Amino acid sequence: MSIKDNIDDLKKDLENYDANLLAVTKTHGIDKIMEVYNYGLRDFGENKVQELIEKKEKMPEDINWHLIGHLQTNKVNKIVGEVSLIHSVDSLKILKKINSRAKSLSIVQDCLIQVNISKEETKSGFFVDEIDKVIEEASKLDNINIKGLMTMAPNTEDENLIRNCFRELKKIFEKLSNLSYNNIEMKYLSMGMTHDYKIALEEGANIIRVGSKIFGKRMYKNVR
Ligand SMILES: *Cc1c(COP(=O)(O)O)cnc(C)c1O
Repeated sequence: MSIKDNIDDLKKDLENYDANLLAVTKTHGIDKIMEVYNYGLRDFGENKVQELIEKKEKMPEDINWHLIGHLQTNKVNKIVGEVSLIHSVDSLKILKKINSRAKSLSIVQDCLIQVNISKEETKSGFFVDEIDKVIEEASKLDNINIKGLMTMAPNTEDENLIRNCFRELKKIFEKLSNLSYNNIEMKYLSMGMTHDYKIALEEGANIIRVGSKIFGKRMYKNVR
């Protein structure tokens, strides 16, 4: 299967949904990523700041870059303003740091709140009972726009577990849609990866983040 065939497959699966395909490019080189670009995709996701910045510099300017991995405090200054969307806001500290960097650049940074629905220790993100507090704090930050929610499902073969996780996030997404803060809008629901994007679409995802299904298996194990 070529990269084009893989994307065609994904497009077919996306046909009946109003959802965006985010190509996860981590660990892959510019040549392969350019194949995806030349086939028309413009949204690319990386989970590491340094890798993202290096690729961004070498690639066309009309790409929307997304940071999807855990952001460390000391990398905030490097990434704010460089990406369309930060999917992985997982602490109040990081949220405030993004805000102050955005302020110093006189920009507003779009972000998603990452939620740890499955409560797995290896996953980052806020727990469900922390979300109200996060939203309240975020509403006070002028240089942040909260554009929705992101999650990762548990790494399991149990489809029901995965589905319940996505379903729960969708419920929270809908509940938060009723809030009226200037800088908080539930527009994007980022969930689903190679092994579970079909379930995510069925449960209401409107951004799926897909790596291996496009590029093939990564050569070394990457931190999820
Ligand atoms: C790597 C990664 C993906 C894509 O994973 P695949 O299984 O290769 O599709 C999606 N989201 C995040 C946060 C990732 O780190």
